[in-house]
Amino acid sequence: MTTTPTLTGLSLAQLEIFLAEMQEPRYRAKQLFAWLYKHGVSSFDEMTDLPEALRERLKSSATIGSIEAISKQSSTKDGTVKFLFTLADGNKIESVLIPPRKGSIDEEKRLTVCISTQVGCPLDCAFCATGTMGFTRNLTPGEIIGQVQEIQNIAHRPVTNIVFMGMGEPLLNYGPLMQAITIFSSEAGMGISPRRITVSTAGYADQMRRMADDGAKVKLAISLHSLHNETRTKLMPITKKHSVEEVIAAATYYFEKTKKSIMLEYILFDNLNDSHVDVKRLVKVSRHFQCRVNLIPYHSIAFTNPSGFAAGLRGSPPEKISWFSKELRDAGIPTFIRDSAGEDITAACGQLAAKKEN
Ligand code: SAH
Repeated sequence: MTTTPTLTGLSLAQLEIFLAEMQEPRYRAKQLFAWLYKHGVSSFDEMTDLPEALRERLKSSATIGSIEAISKQSSTKDGTVKFLFTLADGNKIESVLIPPRKGSIDEEKRLTVCISTQVGCPLDCAFCATGTMGFTRNLTPGEIIGQVQEIQNIAHRPVTNIVFMGMGEPLLNYGPLMQAITIFSSEAGMGISPRRITVSTAGYADQMRRMADDGAKVKLAISLHSLHNETRTKLMPITKKHSVEEVIAAATYYFEKTKKSIMLEYILFDNLNDSHVDVKRLVKVSRHFQCRVNLIPYHSIAFTNPSGFAAGLRGSPPEKISWFSKELRDAGIPTFIRDSAGEDITAACGQLAAKKEN
């Protein structure tokens, strides 16, 4: 069985090979690359500097994209929009358009999207809705890029910032993730500066080191949530594979190689990770590498009917969140409390869980 190749997601080198097989000159690959990524066209007819005969051949031998937005849900409270996409094989994924903070300097220009790297997720973190879907498969580079392109088309504005905080663990899909980042940040492609791209990981220490060795220029965020191995194992079973110490050592390595400040994400759970001892642990870690802490209010995943340990999780009360952030700031750590944008449409962090077909 032959399948029609999808062009979105292919690198310049791969487009050159594809066109060479069609006996086309090499420079056509650059033109095609620009049409796919710089202009983001959705039909071959729009590729006006390609000869008509070539456009016709492309129409019969390839498709442009492999992902389609099938529904859109907007928050009435804060402008967050959640998109549901269907992939060529019928699987579904979600992405979120996050509005800029009201009154921020770049409110007019900024457009942030939170995108997925896997269908489902194998990690099973106790607090995350995506984990309850189980894992189906990794996304291709084209499916990762397609989320951003589709949202741009619908919003009629270019995306300026990308966060890999949707479904899945980005570092378990390393090759396609890096290929998508290269295309996002390529000047001849989508032209989004790597400084405006954040990869969030649950702490795959070996892959974090690999990223640093590969000269990554993107920002790294780590979902830390606890620096106590026993507590963190309950929250995030991946801690059995990579201990807190290993994650911190890998973060230190990433910082030393890239000189980029690392974002530590920390959901505050009532009476679990919000004590004075927890503050002290964070302060100690911040001496190893430059970092800032992003405190995240816990977004309920009651809609997944959690049981056992997960069912007992409660977010820290707002006063505790303020106290915790003040302690960190007083210790000299830049600390932010993340907005819970999109909670009313279950589009906030960790609430993405597309329903499977039937
Ligand atoms: N696998 C990656 C990216 C997806 S999760 C990672 O673990 O970082 C993106 C962010 O949402 C992470 O910081 C994650 O810990 C957070 N998150 C997950 N579930 C949440 C919930 N119920 N409430 C608040 N934040 C949550």
